Amino acid sequence: MKQPVFALVDCNNFYASCEKLFRPDLRNTPVVVLSNNDGCVVARSKEAKALGIKMGVPVHHIKQEIRQHGIQLFSSNYTLYGDMSHRVMMTLEAMAPKVDVYSIDEAFLDLTGLERLMSYQNFGQQAKDTVHQNVGLPVCVGIAPTRTLAKLANYAAKKYPATGGVVDLTNPARQRRLLARVPVDEVWGVGRKIASRLQAMNIVTAIQLADTDLATLRKRFSVVLERTARELNGVPCLPWEDAPPPKKQIMCSRSFGQPVYALANLEEAVTHFATRATEKLRGGQQYAGELMVFIRTNPFKSTVPQYSKSASVRFISASQDSRVIVQHAMNLLRSIYRDGFEYAKAGVMLSELTDDSALQDDLFGSSEIGTAHSARSERLMSVIDEINRKSRAKICMARETGPAVYAMRREHLSPAYTTDWGELPRVL
Ligand SMILES: [Mg+2]
Repeated sequence: MKQPVFALVDCNNFYASCEKLFRPDLRNTPVVVLSNNDGCVVARSKEAKALGIKMGVPVHHIKQEIRQHGIQLFSSNYTLYGDMSHRVMMTLEAMAPKVDVYSIDEAFLDLTGLERLMSYQNFGQQAKDTVHQNVGLPVCVGIAPTRTLAKLANYAAKKYPATGGVVDLTNPARQRRLLARVPVDEVWGVGRKIASRLQAMNIVTAIQLADTDLATLRKRFSVVLERTARELNGVPCLPWEDAPPPKKQIMCSRSFGQPVYALANLEEAVTHFATRATEKLRGGQQYAGELMVFIRTNPFKSTVPQYSKSASVRFISASQDSRVIVQHAMNLLRSIYRDGFEYAKAGVMLSELTDDSALQDDLFGSSEIGTAHSARSERLMSVIDEINRKSRAKICMARETGPAVYAMRREHLSPAYTTDWGELPRVL
């Protein structure tokens, strides 16, 4: 069997790069993109990073820097980013037989067997140039025999400018040299918790993890970390068909643009969040076993009485049906709602995600609200998703209509350059 080779192509400062692309006047200007409601920094251009602006910092903490350095602010414009992402992925799909979109701005490419045609380094350079030419966005490319190493190769391509943004890590000696320089918490799949446990065992760099006894890792951590260590040693353990580790939870929550008092308004917001979260669930071909709903007042507003409450429910059978999940969300919301508070935020979280609806099949058939995963339910949901994806008309839950009290504050929103004829960029 041929030794597999993967490339990870990852956009640089994706959201900030998307904003800059349509504002050539900001080419050398520091740019940051803000989270929902313009709260925190979620993306920074390289100029903003150089100024020491940190990820996640609340925008009101950097007022001074914004004034002093003329930092340009943008509200997050997911319509734009989603469309730019689609263009990047289409370009990559034209270059490699297998492309696995991992997140909005990164994809794995299967390059197995490519070596007969050209060097990996050349391919990486070509991918980078083609995306830049076709879409206008900068990317870095990491190439290696496992996806975990490809992730690290990409990390190196970003971190060390001398690489020119392309790192071919197919050579084992090169792998070892890089592993020795990379902190263990930069390894794919090693979260903060695992990293601190590893550090307590004096495993601080990636190479130390690669050299740890596999049985020990399995026993003290999990088979997942054992696989990671194997992958660091160049042994592919994540088959191509294996989707990347599924998201553990799907969250959908938002601060309201204005204070909310009435249950009806909260119902509308929570219906919206539950519907969006369930769409994401279906997008990932998953089913949820548990639903949590929360509401709260603004803890920073000391002049109003405070209230914060959440409630959750486990489904008898895992579901991806919006009707079922929204109905449960309404029941939970009504059970925690209290009159007389000024609500500032609400949200839903789906957890216990599985990719198999039959896993926790309902012992009593279909006694729950709606048949959780009957063939009819699946057909209905896929038709709704199809209509919502393809047409301007939207099908939504009746409670979702009306003026959106949960509407976001988006005072710095850039135009929908690529998805609205009325907002095309103008060349003066
Ligand atoms: Mg990126």
